[in-house]
Amino acid sequence: MSEASRDLLIVEDNRQNLELVQFLLEEAGHRVRSATDARGARAELERLVPDLVLMDMQLPGTDGLELVAELRGDPRFRHLPIVALTAHALRGDRERFLAGGCDGYIAKPIDVATFALQVEALMPPPRPAPDAAPAEAD
Ligand code: MN
Repeated sequence: MSEASRDLLIVEDNRQNLELVQFLLEEAGHRVRSATDARGARAELERLVPDLVLMDMQLPGTDGLELVAELRGDPRFRHLPIVALTAHALRGDRERFLAGGCDGYIAKPIDVATFALQVEALMPPPRPAPDAAPAEAD
């Protein structure tokens, strides 16, 4: 394991891609939850705010960019790391997704040998546990 176990949410409607991504991240020691559309993603985010969201941009119904825009409008999710996962690899897509509120971008097909490392490189440093937070001065 290259770093501490983290909580990840994968939003992906393609079952094969979802299973592959989940397998690779769990193999790397992470806790992974998943959703196949925007509605499922909202439900998972209400349960637990993950350390990072991997989001397919081509989702049925509300697409990835619409969902990112919605989440950025919610103070709870304004700074939630969101990485676009998409088969769109045309010139300009990266900029479009970053301008749309994503923090990073991984193109499909994914490279199974390096995928977990790519995701870990995009993760923010671990947050201190609530118990470890310094007491506020009064
Ligand atoms: Mn899709």
